[in-house]
Amino acid sequence: MVDVFRRIGEKAKDLGDKAKDLGEKAKDVTKEATKRPSELLEITRLKIDLSKLEKEKENNLHGIGTLVYQKCQGKENLDQEIERLCQQIKALEEEKAKIEEKINSYKPRILICPDCKWELPAGGTYCSFCGKEVKETEEVKEV
Ligand SMILES: [Zn+2]
Repeated sequence: MVDVFRRIGEKAKDLGDKAKDLGEKAKDVTKEATKRPSELLEITRLKIDLSKLEKEKENNLHGIGTLVYQKCQGKENLDQEIERLCQQIKALEEEKAKIEEKINSYKPRILICPDCKWELPAGGTYCSFCGKEVKETEEVKEV
């Protein structure tokens, strides 16, 4: 976070006279910046959920392995239990995919103005410096 603010600070210095015009837009940047900590917290929470699901999946896989081994040794009537664990893993995979999708939707995608290389605020579509509309297809910096 500190680094982000320092970079914003350095860019603000370069602005000189044009800084006045930025007033309103700078507020947006601040709003975006303060929104992030809670998002980071949410992402951390989701990642913990994800690792729990992963652990659960491993346990089920281990269970299947044990059952298959017992089957090899001649133990009968295990297919139903194996099938049950397979279904459980499938459900866990679906849950994991949902969480991963959520995490990806939180990832801040910073657009960079192709003209002046100004970093747009997260979710922004217009350059705060020159006013150019920057499309998603422009240079994107993954944070
Ligand atoms: Zn620009």
